[in-house]
Amino acid sequence: MKMNKDTLGLYLHIPFCQGKCRYCDFYSVNFEQALLEKYLSYLKKELLSYSILLQGKGRKVELETIYFGGGTPGLLSAEELAQVLDLISQEFSLSPLAEVSLEVNPSSLTGEKLQAYRKSGINRLSIGVQSFNDRELSFLGRRHDAREAREKIELAGRYFDNYSIDLIYAIPDQELADWERTLQQAIQLSPYHVSLYSLQIEEGTPLASSLAAGEFEETDNSLDAEMYLLARQFLRASGYEHYEISNFARNGYQSRHNRLYWEFRPYLGVGPGSHSFMGGERFWNHADLSLYMEKLNQGELPVQERIQLSREEQMAEMVFMGLRLLEGVSLTEFYKMFNVSLTEYYAREIEKLQSQGLITIGNDRISLTEKGLLLGNLVFMEFLP
Ligand code: SF4
Repeated sequence: MKMNKDTLGLYLHIPFCQGKCRYCDFYSVNFEQALLEKYLSYLKKELLSYSILLQGKGRKVELETIYFGGGTPGLLSAEELAQVLDLISQEFSLSPLAEVSLEVNPSSLTGEKLQAYRKSGINRLSIGVQSFNDRELSFLGRRHDAREAREKIELAGRYFDNYSIDLIYAIPDQELADWERTLQQAIQLSPYHVSLYSLQIEEGTPLASSLAAGEFEETDNSLDAEMYLLARQFLRASGYEHYEISNFARNGYQSRHNRLYWEFRPYLGVGPGSHSFMGGERFWNHADLSLYMEKLNQGELPVQERIQLSREEQMAEMVFMGLRLLEGVSLTEFYKMFNVSLTEYYAREIEKLQSQGLITIGNDRISLTEKGLLLGNLVFMEFLP
C-alpha cells in the first residue's frame, strides 16, 4: 500500500454535469459536447506544460495513481478518455501497477462504455450512488433511482474487479431505519470499497436556499453520529476494514489515490478548480472554465494562488491529515521528515487530547480513539498553528 516517495498522484478535473445536484458545490458547468472537446484540448495543454516543468534531467515523473474526478468524468467517451491517457503515458512514466480511477454516475453508464473504459486503461471506478432510497435521491437531485443504481453496480461488476460506491447520510427526514436499508442494499451488492459522506448544506446551493425558506430541517448531530456508528458497525461486520474516518475497504482495495492526500504526499491537479501539493507548496487553479482556457491561451499556467507552507504548517498538516487514517501517523516517519519528535513538539496538545480520551499512542503511531473518530475536527484544530 505504501507508495514510492518520488512518485506523484495526478488528479484531472472534468467540470461538466448533466444538470446540477441540489447539494453540490463542486465546480462544474452544463455538459455540451463541443465545449467538452474544446476543454480537452486545453487540459492536454496544461498536462504538456507540467510534463516539461517537472521533467528533471531528461527523467519523466513517475505517476502512481491517476484520478478522473468531477463534475462527471463518465461523460467522456472511451475514445476521449483513451486520448488523454495516451498523452499521459507519453509524457509521464506510468507505473505498471498504477491505480487509474474514474468517477461515474449510474445514469451515464452502459455496458459498452464500461467495456471500452476498461480497455482504455481505467482499472477502478468510483460510483456516485449516494442512496438506495428514491425519496432521498430525488431530494438530492440525482438523476438515477435506486433500481438503476443497483442495475448499474451489477453491470460495473461484470467489467471491473475494483470499484467503490459513495453513500450520503444525514439527509433531511432520513430515519435510522432508512439508512439501515440503504446500507443493507449496499452490502448485498458487495462493492470493494465504500465512502460515506454526511450531507453538508453548502452555501450557494439550491439546498441552502430551500433550508433558508424553511422547506426542511437539518438532521441533528446526534442522529448524524448514530448513522455514522451504524454504518461502521454494519460495514465492519460485513468484512470491510474501516481504514479512514469516512472510508471502508475489502482487504487490498483501499483507495491508493486518496491515501496520497492523507499521507501528506505530493500530487498534481489539472483542470479548473483543481488543487496541487508539491515541495511544501499548495496551489490551485482558477475555478472558472473561461479564465482557465484564457490563461492557457496566453501561455500561462491557470494557477489562481500559491501558498508555501511554513515548516510549522507542514508539521501540523502531516499530523491532522494522517490522523484521518485509523492507523494514524508514524512517529518515525514524522521524525524523518522534520527532524523533530512529534510527541515532544506537540507534548501539550497530546497531553490534553489524551486526557480527553480522543487520541492514543502505541506501536510508534499516534491515532484517534473510537471517541476521537466522532470528534475528529476537535482533534485536528488542536494541531493548527
Ligand atoms: S454529478 Fe457530482 S459534480 Fe455533478 S452536480 Fe452532481 S454531485 Fe455535483
